Amino acid sequence: MSRKEQREYRLETLSVHEGVYKDTAYNSVTTPIYPSSTFAFERIGQHKGYDYTRSGNPTRQALADNLAALEGGTGAWVTCTGMATFTTLGYLFKAGDHIVTGKDIYSGTIRFLNTVLPTHGVETSFVNMSDPDEVRKAIRPNTKAVLIETPSNPLLNIVDIAAITAVAREHGLLSIADNTFMSPYFQRPFEFGVDIVVHSTTKYLNGHSDVVGGAIITRDAKLGERIAFLVNALGTACSPFDAWLVLRGVKTLAYRMEAHQRNAMAVARFLADHPKVKKVYYPGLETHPGHALAKKQMRGFGGMVSFDADLDKVNLDEFFARLELFSLAESLGGVESLIEQPWTMSHSSISEQARTEGGISPSTVRMSLGIEHPDDLVADLRAALG
Ligand SMILES: *Cc1c(COP(=O)(O)O)cnc(C)c1O
Repeated sequence: MSRKEQREYRLETLSVHEGVYKDTAYNSVTTPIYPSSTFAFERIGQHKGYDYTRSGNPTRQALADNLAALEGGTGAWVTCTGMATFTTLGYLFKAGDHIVTGKDIYSGTIRFLNTVLPTHGVETSFVNMSDPDEVRKAIRPNTKAVLIETPSNPLLNIVDIAAITAVAREHGLLSIADNTFMSPYFQRPFEFGVDIVVHSTTKYLNGHSDVVGGAIITRDAKLGERIAFLVNALGTACSPFDAWLVLRGVKTLAYRMEAHQRNAMAVARFLADHPKVKKVYYPGLETHPGHALAKKQMRGFGGMVSFDADLDKVNLDEFFARLELFSLAESLGGVESLIEQPWTMSHSSISEQARTEGGISPSTVRMSLGIEHPDDLVADLRAALG
């Protein structure tokens, strides 16, 4: 389906049809995988749109077109991991530049900003992004960009995207949003003025825990040209096979997100009333401090729930072992439910002090709810909590 023919299709329709290339040789209904590393020229200076797979590939392009449409961007580039999106974006900056981001963003991104970019002379300030004033105060004359991640991980704090992009615009800064936790089904950061959206497609976009990948989506075509140049020059693009898996997964995004959310809500409500649970973090609960803002900028609350267990009453190791349906694993966004302890697992790479300041403790438990039946998940948690 070409851009020109597009009417105002909704996400459910776009995710199935956009970017899907039909093979004219046999009229295949789905996009074939083109693993070819190189493509033959018909004559000097003339080929069928692709010459070499690092630079471009039809299967990868099909996914890129699909994701650009879902986010409402002008172009997308799909990378081999979520971290490869930051590797690529890091090259938009030069020595002496400065970035402002949240204290409680993805731990791998914190590690990249704290240990990799400084070796190239690029520094980052980490602030409480739920307060736009803190962002404003952190801006220096050499600040070039703000990086937004909302809801945050693992405590699901909400950042006001429109307020932060307004601050960024005042100071002529590039604004980047990591939309991995919500997916474009629940949140579309371009609508609030960001310049670049990034994803770890490993999570909800692929949704089946069987690929690692990333995507960079731009609103402005000129910035897109720069990203295209960098992805090719750096070699950060994904393999055709991985692109094909994500394209297959993304077709059911809307229906999976609804199921993730239904399960998250059921589990959050159950835990909120449980005597062995001290606190539940889920933006869909009225008691969540970001609930009103979440309702304003998101069309749903997502599938992630965290809670603080009462460690006087629960032994987490025994609790995890008693669960039948939840795997003790990092990552998120797949059809199967996962559970983990951020203190020793997903967030162990950030300093103990930073974890404590961010409100994470050994009693914090993070869950990625899958698409199983909510009653089965609640029953499993009830039995395991005892
Ligand atoms: C997982 C994740 C990443 C990194 O993605 P990888 O595919 O693991 O490289 C970045 N941001 C967020 C919010 C994530 O959850």
